[in-house]
Amino acid sequence: MSTESKATLEKLVALCKRRGFVYQSAEIYGGLNGVYDFGYLGTLVKQNLRAVWLTAMNSCKGDMLQLEGSLLGSRAVWEASGHIQNFHDPMVDCLQCKHRYRADDIDLNKPCPHCGNKNWTEIREFNMMFKTYVGATAEQGSEAYLRPETAQAIFINFKNVISTNRVKIPFGIAQIGKAFRNEITPKQFLFRMREFEQMEMEWFCKGETAEKDFEYWCEQRHNFYAILGLTMSRIRMRPHAKDELAHYSKACTDVEYQFPFGWKELEGIAYRGDFDLSQHTKFSGKDLAVFDEETKTSYMPHVVECSVGADRLFLTLLFDSYDEDVVEGETRIVLRFNPAVAPIKAAFLPLTKKQSDATEKIYTAIKQTGLVVDFDESGSIGKRYRRQDEIGTPLCFTYDFESETDNAVTVRNRDTTKQERISIDKVESYLQDFFTKK
Ligand code: ATP
Repeated sequence: MSTESKATLEKLVALCKRRGFVYQSAEIYGGLNGVYDFGYLGTLVKQNLRAVWLTAMNSCKGDMLQLEGSLLGSRAVWEASGHIQNFHDPMVDCLQCKHRYRADDIDLNKPCPHCGNKNWTEIREFNMMFKTYVGATAEQGSEAYLRPETAQAIFINFKNVISTNRVKIPFGIAQIGKAFRNEITPKQFLFRMREFEQMEMEWFCKGETAEKDFEYWCEQRHNFYAILGLTMSRIRMRPHAKDELAHYSKACTDVEYQFPFGWKELEGIAYRGDFDLSQHTKFSGKDLAVFDEETKTSYMPHVVECSVGADRLFLTLLFDSYDEDVVEGETRIVLRFNPAVAPIKAAFLPLTKKQSDATEKIYTAIKQTGLVVDFDESGSIGKRYRRQDEIGTPLCFTYDFESETDNAVTVRNRDTTKQERISIDKVESYLQDFFTKK
């Protein structure tokens, strides 16, 4: 992995579109700002990211459960969580060109970066939740909101989860799902979207152990990025200063990544005290405290939360694995994905169309093992290697004239471009070894 990133946002956006990782949503109608669709390769990478995240969650200390909460939440939920009152961003408009900004994103003592005039509106608070109505009548009682974070579904189901699973504090509930925020200025592609996916985990523990557990999770999450294969010099842990913390939050550390546009939050790890369960107890009138068999008293569990955006992580992965180098006198683009998250694990390439049937036979056999693989017979072999490099395929198997007599194929490694000859009946075990070793 090179230390200097060769990626720019423009290059990544173009690559994602060209190769079908990500499309602008409703593009044929001019596009919906801040909303994206994932194509075949993008879908595969996201599936892999979810799997790696879940594996990390499941391999932690203690029990880890899962939940898939609803996307719509009644007004009552968001009142209790504080989102109706507090989930605001400050917004300002240029009176001249009508451009809109997040007030904390720009210097209001300076002219509008868009038109050069200095004629600002007052700063207004803008609630970022998407509101809708459930049922046929639009009245306050039927108000609902698309969730701006997945976490609340975990808190409001806490009693259900604990009474239907034999778990004891401490334990965690992990959840992957969509969240919606009407961001004032969605930008930097998948970095700030209006519809995005979160991978969140709420860890329920006793107040006495919470600080230690918070430290444990900070360490776990730092390790996760090493396991994912990110360049660790571009990852840092940034503890929040006291004045940055929400009033209920006792500690918070952001995992930040060094993007070309600066160090930015990739994940938030927060010790939230017993705020969430206490709020829902207060607003719902249902006691969410748990009973401690040892002390024969009941107490409100404390919470440590780890929350990362799947799409933001996807963008990070693209930045981190994008590389350009020269192979056989030609510049190639290569995504040096960790094999575990590469969308296509291997490609099967006949040297000429004459060898297509024999190659396809090997491809089909491997595909039936469950590995996502590709078969490509069009264009020169060099071009096909470049195509696979550009989408991060770790291995290419080429069937050539000699294969008919020596029953072997050439396997080429994406990163080293080194080639070796292996017998066809060893392809499956070669792949198995390669993907379990990584
Ligand atoms: P930011 O300060 O960047 O707006 P935040 O502190 O509001 O983020 P959280 O509410 O802590 O973010 O959300 C947890 C994670 O969800 C973030 O670390 C990020 O990875 C992801 N995330 C938040 N907002 C967005 C968004 N608009 N688009 C994509 N991912 C997002």
